[in-house]
Amino acid sequence: MESIKRNILLNPGPSTTTDTVKYAQVVPDICPREKEFAGLMKGLREDLVKIVHGDLDKYTSVLFCGSGTINIDVCINSLLPSGKKVLVVNNGAYSTRAVEICQYYGLPHIDLEFAVDEIPDLAKIEETLKANPDIALIHTTHQETGTGILNPIREIGALAHKYGAIFTVDTTSTYAMRPIDIEKDNIDFCMASAQKGLMSFTGLSFVVGNRAIIEKSASYPKRSYYCNLFLQYDCFEKTGEMHFTPPVQTIYATLQALKEYWAEGEEAKWARHTRVFNAINEGLEELGFKQVIVPENRAGLVSSAIYPDDPDWSFEKVHDYCYDRGFTIYPGKISTTNTFRLCALGAIDEADIKDFFKVFKEALDVTGVQTPVRYN
Ligand SMILES: *Cc1c(COP(=O)(O)O)cnc(C)c1O
Repeated sequence: MESIKRNILLNPGPSTTTDTVKYAQVVPDICPREKEFAGLMKGLREDLVKIVHGDLDKYTSVLFCGSGTINIDVCINSLLPSGKKVLVVNNGAYSTRAVEICQYYGLPHIDLEFAVDEIPDLAKIEETLKANPDIALIHTTHQETGTGILNPIREIGALAHKYGAIFTVDTTSTYAMRPIDIEKDNIDFCMASAQKGLMSFTGLSFVVGNRAIIEKSASYPKRSYYCNLFLQYDCFEKTGEMHFTPPVQTIYATLQALKEYWAEGEEAKWARHTRVFNAINEGLEELGFKQVIVPENRAGLVSSAIYPDDPDWSFEKVHDYCYDRGFTIYPGKISTTNTFRLCALGAIDEADIKDFFKVFKEALDVTGVQTPVRYN
């Protein structure tokens, strides 16, 4: 097996993968309608539930062919009974996607907005639930990937259940990294895609959630032909297959990624991501960079650094210098502040971050940016 050039991706996914996962895509051609392939997906679906410690009788996973946003679309359009309302607890770009999905489907919804650098106020959420007894679904994002803030999902989930609503959480940027317990965290549905925490490739996304609620949703309005949760679930239960063509090669790679996930172990993997995250924060601090999210509110996977007030600072120039040397940095996703992001996902470790900061410091030096960086 020839080794492939190793790039260190510090963007929020797709992530750096191992060569063994890369090569797992290279398999004999197979028609995915063969029993052999359905058998592979059965084990895969169970593993995806086990990662969030779900009881296989109570929870299931449903696979989709698409990027992570398909999961948000599927959950929101499929799990709302007619005449009911969605509440989106929104403190960032990814929850805003859920609001836009409500708008596109014409679903009654409340966009409960909070500042992007603040934890949502539980009292306000409860007030909204009291005032709107027709809320049947609460949605939020676990780690807002745009900033790296950690939202209090266990508490929001408890409120949802107290008021008879189901709770869907976008865990795309925490799943298989920061430990999640679906039951203890009061989650009815969570979601992710293969290219993030699992360190596999794009094309495979999945919703993990409560089987009884999916079965109940069979009678809810069908608002999408391709993206309906019950229809896809029902097809898996009856045939073991996706309704339409699955991402065959990504599924092979993800099976290998899962082997590597179990071999590393939940605790050791989270410890590794934490090492990487700490090295990122130390590196930024040494160079004088300020961040958007205060340390106690960070989810431990995305750092969001503020552009310095230096006339020579150019994200593009610094990006290109690093990119040419195998390191990818990523722009921010906040409309009010200019930021860039460094993320701790993927098959990387502390030493890669040390190497990155040597190159990053060089990039600042050659572009004439003073260090430590300055703010007005
Ligand atoms: C990456 C990500 C998604 C999915 O984005 P795609 O571009 O569709 O892959 C959704 N939610 C969160 C929180 C994410 O980090």
